[in-house]
Amino acid sequence: VDEHYQVVIVRYGTRTATRREVYLNYGVYDEPDAPIGMDYFFWVIRNGQHTLVLDTGFSRAGGEKRQRTMLIEPTSALRLLGIGPEELSTVLISHAHYDHIGNLAAFVSSDLVIAEGELAFWQSEYATRAQFRHSADDAGMAALATAESEGRVRTFTGAISLLPGIEMVEVGGHTPGQSVVVVDTSEGRVVLASDATHYYEELDRDMPFAFVADLVQTYAGLDRLRDIMGEDGASHLVTGHDPSTFQRFRSLADIPADLHGHAVSIGSLT
Ligand SMILES: [Zn+2]
Repeated sequence: VDEHYQVVIVRYGTRTATRREVYLNYGVYDEPDAPIGMDYFFWVIRNGQHTLVLDTGFSRAGGEKRQRTMLIEPTSALRLLGIGPEELSTVLISHAHYDHIGNLAAFVSSDLVIAEGELAFWQSEYATRAQFRHSADDAGMAALATAESEGRVRTFTGAISLLPGIEMVEVGGHTPGQSVVVVDTSEGRVVLASDATHYYEELDRDMPFAFVADLVQTYAGLDRLRDIMGEDGASHLVTGHDPSTFQRFRSLADIPADLHGHAVSIGSLT
């Protein structure tokens, strides 16, 4: 049994923001404001036996509502990778923000794995309050509810080993059950941080993102990422939204022309 996977990072959307918009209470740092790019990704974890998808991107409606640019439909990108959303066995949900669970309705037979605290929060009254509501996606939540009624939702607390070489770890902070995924590849251990750190700078300079459910837990989550990168000897950190991602990793080889410029990878597909 192969316990190494290839990670494919798909860039499906983009926008230009400002540093003041993306870093929490930016005035604290006494630095000038400046434009900062924000890219939107989802992630595929695969080998000869298994294919898992981490997050499903924003939907066209969810992106338009917030003036985000969609570069390629996430489900189209998946099909170009040879993955049919309707037959995929497992979708991992790092957290239930609009840009991570849009398009979930296309995954009609997948098991959905999400931290119990994350699911419970988005089904609670607090999710309707303006600061949280801003990041919510009704269609994605409806798809989650449908999956739950069909017995396709697997929840966990703390951490869950999904397969040998793939672990999902709840860190909280950005959202109540924000999770990261740790994957063993032929090029070492990869941490798919999703929005536990949107940017490399967010972790390197200890600067929390503008949207937090719990600031103390956000700092603790950054510490947790440092622990995973240090003590556990992970080789590669993949952040949730950093535009430098496509300079850091190499283009995925042998892909259809329509996917060119949209996919980079870590590890070989064995
Ligand atoms: Zn995000």
